[in-house]
Amino acid sequence: MTDHSVVLGAGIAGLLAAAALADTSRVVTVVERDRLPDNPSQRRGIPQGPHLHSLLSRGWHTIEELVPGLIDDVVAAGGHVLDDARLGARMHIQNGPYAFNRTDPVADPAALATYLVTRPLLEWALRHRVAALPNVIIKDGHDIGELVSGKPGRITGVTINDRRTGAMKTLDADLVIDATGRATRTPRLLETLGYDRAPRQSFTVRGVYYSQQLAIPDQDSFPERLVLVVPPGSAGRGGLAAGEHGTWTLTIATHADERSAPPTTLADMLALAVKFAPSHIHPALRRAVPLSDVEVYRYPGGTWHRYDRCARNPDGLLVIGDALCCLDPIHGQGITMAARHAQTLRTHLRERKGVDPQRFYQSLTRMIAPVWASNQPPGQTSDRGVKDKVRRRAFQWSLRKMLEAADDIVVTERLVRIVNMVDPPQRLLEPRILARVAAYHLRKALPLSASCLRTKAHS
Ligand SMILES: Cc1cc2nc3c(=O)[nH]c(=O)nc-3n(C[C@H](O)[C@H](O)[C@H](O)COP(=O)(O)OP(=O)(O)OC[C@H]3O[C@@H](n4cnc5c(N)ncnc54)[C@H](O)[C@@H]3O)c2cc1C
Repeated sequence: MTDHSVVLGAGIAGLLAAAALADTSRVVTVVERDRLPDNPSQRRGIPQGPHLHSLLSRGWHTIEELVPGLIDDVVAAGGHVLDDARLGARMHIQNGPYAFNRTDPVADPAALATYLVTRPLLEWALRHRVAALPNVIIKDGHDIGELVSGKPGRITGVTINDRRTGAMKTLDADLVIDATGRATRTPRLLETLGYDRAPRQSFTVRGVYYSQQLAIPDQDSFPERLVLVVPPGSAGRGGLAAGEHGTWTLTIATHADERSAPPTTLADMLALAVKFAPSHIHPALRRAVPLSDVEVYRYPGGTWHRYDRCARNPDGLLVIGDALCCLDPIHGQGITMAARHAQTLRTHLRERKGVDPQRFYQSLTRMIAPVWASNQPPGQTSDRGVKDKVRRRAFQWSLRKMLEAADDIVVTERLVRIVNMVDPPQRLLEPRILARVAAYHLRKALPLSASCLRTKAHS
């Protein structure tokens, strides 16, 4: 049992870490810079708040495990439940030219269940649950100052500043968790304490999100509640998601160097939306009413602070969530990964008396590495030679063949389970799946070969 744990940042990663710590710490204090609203509203520290957030099914399962009852809260607050056996009933997902089977039923719809709410509602519902834990205190309106190292090789606390009064105070802690997101100052703070700066890996995408909240008066004229499309041959993506109480978020995600003029009005946004949304939704979309301005969010790419590669990490300090590894948001994996980090924290806390930072980061590295690799934009891979290149090309070719075979519901279900992190990627290579992919391509090739034979016979 730890006496006092301090979590820096009350975003999703910080709140989930607090939930994970609550059963092994006497007291958990969460420190947050913003004044936290007592309703689901946007706040300064979460600039991604107005943009489309859709969680992977694995994310929902993991959050529910850490904070039981959260899904019921989200649904009671107006969230939509998407758990249909026919995947396409209320979800339209399209990846380039590949059409997924959306009409046959999947075998295990519960594993692929997802829930739709705005980001402010998700965070508010989570904060409500975590703040109700008897040993969790949320201290908002406080900036984090310095890490305190009262013993050699160990972080023993942190200084915090009250933003209203300017008063500074030290919080002593057995364990400090940094969950301050992309703005993390831990690498620099550790350097001032004499530690080497953690090596940093990064990739560049120069991404930009444009989003607008809408009301769609004719929303019942179409069944879909989530539309996520990568149009064929495009670098951009489009998304339309229902939120609570008749709000919709329309998002266009693209690259900052795209030539076209940025959308600034509802008319601009709708002109882009009709390029990706299924055509039967267009009439309702054209009658949409704006509930907000067009919000813009720019980001350079992804960053992974490799604490696992540091020769020395102090005891009593761990970094999780975006502060450890921040991905490209277009893949919608950030909250799921934050939840998995918090779950790993709980496992380490339960299995051992104290968490060994090196072992903790090694566990997270095994989890992050494949996701990080899948986030690399084309042309920025870390291929080390001909062998790597051949392996990557072979992988891409096999993936293309599998995507082409996705009008088989068994292949579709497996692909969707992998994208949702319900299954690990290697389950795509199971003999049962490979056999169905091969059968699909054989069926496609057979009429062709038969007609070739016929032509030869006639000539
Ligand atoms: C545009 C966009 C769209 C996204 N869409 C999705 C999606 O569809 N699905 C998905 O799963 N993920 C998505 N993500 C990613 C997701 O938002 C994050 O990965 C996830 O919320 C985890 O973030 P976090 O809690 O680690 O950090 P953050 O959300 O950044 O929270 C950090 C917290 O720390 C506080 N803080 C920072 N500095 C200090 C300080 N010095 N003192 C005190 N407090 C401080 C901040 O105020 C904030 O509350 C998206 C991200 C972006 C940018």
